[in-house]
Amino acid sequence: MTTRRSGQRTDTSGRRRAGRHSRRKSYKGQWLVVTALAVLGTVVVAHPDVAHRNSLAAQAVAGVDNAAHEAPVVPVVTPTPTPVAAPTQKFTTPLRPAPTLTRKPKGAKPNVLVSTGKLAVVPGFDKADGIRDKMTYRVEIEQGLSVNGAAVAATIHKTLTDPRGWQAVHPVSFERTDKPDADIRIILATPALTDKLCLPLDTGGEVSCRVEDRVVLNAKRWLYAIPAYNGNVGLYRNYLVNHEVGHALGHGHSTCTTPKTPAPVMMQQTKGLGGCLPNAWPTIKAT
Ligand SMILES: [Zn+2]
Repeated sequence: MTTRRSGQRTDTSGRRRAGRHSRRKSYKGQWLVVTALAVLGTVVVAHPDVAHRNSLAAQAVAGVDNAAHEAPVVPVVTPTPTPVAAPTQKFTTPLRPAPTLTRKPKGAKPNVLVSTGKLAVVPGFDKADGIRDKMTYRVEIEQGLSVNGAAVAATIHKTLTDPRGWQAVHPVSFERTDKPDADIRIILATPALTDKLCLPLDTGGEVSCRVEDRVVLNAKRWLYAIPAYNGNVGLYRNYLVNHEVGHALGHGHSTCTTPKTPAPVMMQQTKGLGGCLPNAWPTIKAT
C-alpha cells in the first residue's frame, strides 16, 4: 500500500508538478502568441501591402485564379476630350466666271470689226418680274466679238426691267429666254453683220436698227458709245436697248424740242442730240 500510496503520492505530486509545469508552459505559450499577434498586427497596420498579399494568398488557397490580380494594375485613365475650336473662318465656293461666248488672244485688241457672220444664242433665262403681258426675247451675239455674253444679257435684262424703262410706260413684262419661239431677238453684231441684218434700212456701219423681230445692236456703238455721252458707256447701252426695243413696242422717232433738257429716248441720239442732254429712259421727259 505504502508503495502504492507513495506511488500514488508520487503520482499525485507528479501530476501536480506536471500540472504546474503544464500551466507555466501554457502561460509562456500565451505570451508568445500575444507577442506574435502584436508584431503581426503592427506589420499589417504599418504595411497595407502585406495585408493585400495575405489576401491574395488566401484567395490562392481558396482556388481563386489570382493571375489577373498579379498582373500590374494599369490605372484606367479616362481621356479628357480636347475641346476643338469652332471654325471662325467661312469658306465660300468661288463663283464660277461667267461663261464667255468669245475669247480674245492675250494682248490682242478687242474685236468689234472682224465679222464671222455667225450668231450664237446666249443660254439661260431671266424671268419676268411682272404678271402683265409678257414679251420674251432671246439674246444672240456674233461669234468672235470680244464681249462676255452673260454680261451682255444681264445688261439688257436690267435695262428692260428698270423702273425708269418701258415696263413703267406699257403693260409689259420682259422675260429672257434662249428658245427659238422668243417674241423678239436682240442681236449684238459687228457693223458689217448689222448692215446685213438691218436691210432694207441703211445703218452705214455706224448705227443700230430694229427690223421685224430683230433688234440689232451695233457692237461698235456698244463698246465705244458716242462722244455726247462723255464716256458713260453704260448709260449709252441703256439708251441703245430702250430705243430699239421702243421700236418693237410701236414707237417712232422723236426730236429734241427743248434744248438743254433730256433728249427723248426715241430720238436718234447717235446721229446728234440737237442741243438736248443725253437720256436713256422713256420715263424721263423734256421739261
Ligand atoms: Zn430708231
